[in-house]
Amino acid sequence: MEVSSMCQLCRESSESILHVLRDCHVAHNLWTSLSPPMAESIFCGLKSSEWLRQNCCISKTSPILDIRWGIIFSFGIWTLWLNRNGVVLRHENGQRNLKSDVLAKAMEFAYIGRANRTSTRRQIAISWRFPPLT
Ligand SMILES: [Zn+2]
Repeated sequence: MEVSSMCQLCRESSESILHVLRDCHVAHNLWTSLSPPMAESIFCGLKSSEWLRQNCCISKTSPILDIRWGIIFSFGIWTLWLNRNGVVLRHENGQRNLKSDVLAKAMEFAYIGRANRTSTRRQIAISWRFPPLT
């Protein structure tokens, strides 16, 4: 089985992890539609590990939804990877609506996180008394 080094999404550049997740026009279109809370020059200029770390750690909420950017970014990465694998491994056409996939997953995650904030713990005050001396 011959494996091409070209990106199977755009067929314009060699495939690297950073190309698939950020620099390919498929990824770029997704990120642009999600409005990252940092300047595009910074977003597109960071090295891969720093890019992942900074975006995952951003606690600002997205301008699109009241959800932390780090959550949306994480699901963006995951969705881009699944999309890439669908095209390369299952020969899908890659025409999914990635933005709606990301937002649906992020909303579900955020909702579950909020729903579980009610504690099932209950505090019960107890005391102890000396036993009667006989
Ligand atoms: Zn590409």
